[in-house]
Amino acid sequence: MRIDITNKEKTLHQIRSGLKWLTSEYKDICLDFKSVPDKRWEKLWERALLIEDMERWIRKFHDFKDCIWGEFKCPKLQFMICDKCTK
Ligand SMILES: [Zn+2]
Repeated sequence: MRIDITNKEKTLHQIRSGLKWLTSEYKDICLDFKSVPDKRWEKLWERALLIEDMERWIRKFHDFKDCIWGEFKCPKLQFMICDKCTK
C-alpha cells in the first residue's frame, strides 16, 4: 500500500478501507481460528498497527479531530474504534 499522508482524503479513504478489511478478516478468522495459519494473524496485526499509525499521523498532520467516518461514528463491531469514538 502506498501511503501519502499529505493527501488527507486519500489517507482517510485508506484508513476506512483498512478498518473494513480488518473487521471482516477478523470475523472470518474467528469462525475457525484454530486452523488459521500464523501468517494470517501476523498480517492482521501488521495491518492494525499500520492503521493505528495512519490515524495518529492524520490527526497530527492535518489536525483532524473527527471520527474517521466523518459525521458518522465507528460501528460498534468494528475491529478497532478510532480515537474520537473511544473518548
Ligand atoms: Zn470513530
